Amino acid sequence: MKTFEDLIKEVQTPGLCHHCGGCVTFCTSINYGALALDDTGMPHYADKEKCIECGLCYSICPEIDEMQEETRKVAGWVPPMGNILETTSARALDPMIRNKGTDGGVVTALLVHLLDKGHIDGAIVTKQTGPFIRDPMLATTRQEIIDSAGFYFDSSHGVKHFGHDYSTYSPSVQEFRPMMQKGLRRVALVGTPCQIQTLRKIEAMGIVPSDSIKYSLGLFCSGNFIFDEPERKKLESLGGFKWEDVIKVNIKEELIIRLNNGTVKNIGLDKIEFMKRYACKYCPDYSSEYADVSFGGIGSDEGWTTIITRSPTGRAIIADAKGQSLEIYDFQKQPDLPAKILDKVKKVSAKKKAYSQKMHDALVGQ
Ligand SMILES: Cc1cc2nc3c(=O)[nH]c(=O)nc-3n(C[C@H](O)[C@H](O)[C@H](O)COP(=O)(O)OP(=O)(O)OC[C@H]3O[C@@H](n4cnc5c(N)ncnc54)[C@H](O)[C@@H]3O)c2cc1C
Ligand code: SF4
Ligand code: SF4
Ligand code: SF4
Repeated sequence: MKTFEDLIKEVQTPGLCHHCGGCVTFCTSINYGALALDDTGMPHYADKEKCIECGLCYSICPEIDEMQEETRKVAGWVPPMGNILETTSARALDPMIRNKGTDGGVVTALLVHLLDKGHIDGAIVTKQTGPFIRDPMLATTRQEIIDSAGFYFDSSHGVKHFGHDYSTYSPSVQEFRPMMQKGLRRVALVGTPCQIQTLRKIEAMGIVPSDSIKYSLGLFCSGNFIFDEPERKKLESLGGFKWEDVIKVNIKEELIIRLNNGTVKNIGLDKIEFMKRYACKYCPDYSSEYADVSFGGIGSDEGWTTIITRSPTGRAIIADAKGQSLEIYDFQKQPDLPAKILDKVKKVSAKKKAYSQKMHDALVGQ
């Protein structure tokens, strides 16, 4: 039976751990304290004697290939980038949500819609908890969901006081525990592709509380980035801006930095490899291939969100929100736009897979 000891060898030591916290959250001995996370989110043995060597942490880790076939089956995954029922572009009907949103505010509008209609009791989202830091949160009110919108960093508090590894990564899977403790049975999960994959894996393993996640809303993901001081300084000089002037950050084909004087700085993603989290360089999933619905900005006009509907459940919630909470882009003038958007996503997805493969090959060759 492989245990956490093997996770250390196979995942942590080669640098593949992306700090999702799944192993700690689902450790059979969590209540006794066998595992814990350190300040940087890295799991470790808190007390090895309390490990009952059940192997769950090993099987659950998204970096371990075990159960790939079963996991794919649960999500209805098909090559090359998951199941696709429809591609479209939309934005929140509520202008306040639209303004707060990263792209068209669709994820937030959809969550508010599901909550208002009584389809969910809450949603696992992430909230800005400090400059350059987002933390996972189980939102159970409209306001909490709206507060979690966006993907920008607030540097207004100054950036000096936090002894934290500043990163865009938010270990949302760790919110499964509060969800269980509160007894919530109908929850939506918003997450990056790796987090959605962890969910599908525990679903395939039949582990409680995966059955409480009713909707998985995946984000497209080029990677998560470290925003410690050296990275921030380098980025400032690359982009020719000052952090105190930044009002919004977004990622599409490029890193997009909006300044308070209306200027927009676009920095190529290839130029910011230096600040990408190491584990993200090995990740093959760009478009949240295992989600019910996937969301990104790429391909859509400014202020609109690209939506890839993947499962019948996903299709149903988008259909229900259409016209009530979501405005669908008018494709009459460009009927071929959805196909063009999908083509773009496919290209970026293929590029990410090729890069990840190259990195894995190099690791094997070491
Ligand atoms: C790390 C990261 C990388 C991304 N890379 C790309 C990319 O390369 N190309 C692209 O087209 N789109 C990318 N996206 C997706 C894009 O930024 C938007 O999230 C998506 O288009 C939805 O926009 P929206 O306005 O509808 O969402 P909103 O209504 O703004 O809602 C966004 C939701 O995402 C949650 N969220 C914010 N940050 C994180 C985080 N770090 N981890 C987990 N959840 C988070 C928020 O809590 C909120 O619920 C990325 C997102 C993230 C978080
Ligand atoms: S008790 Fe099980 S899940 Fe926890 S560390 Fe040991 S092997 Fe892993
Ligand atoms: S489950 Fe997540 S936190 Fe644990 S070793 Fe795997 S990637 Fe790292
Ligand atoms: S690049 Fe992959 S591992 Fe990194 S945050 Fe995105 S989905 Fe997770």
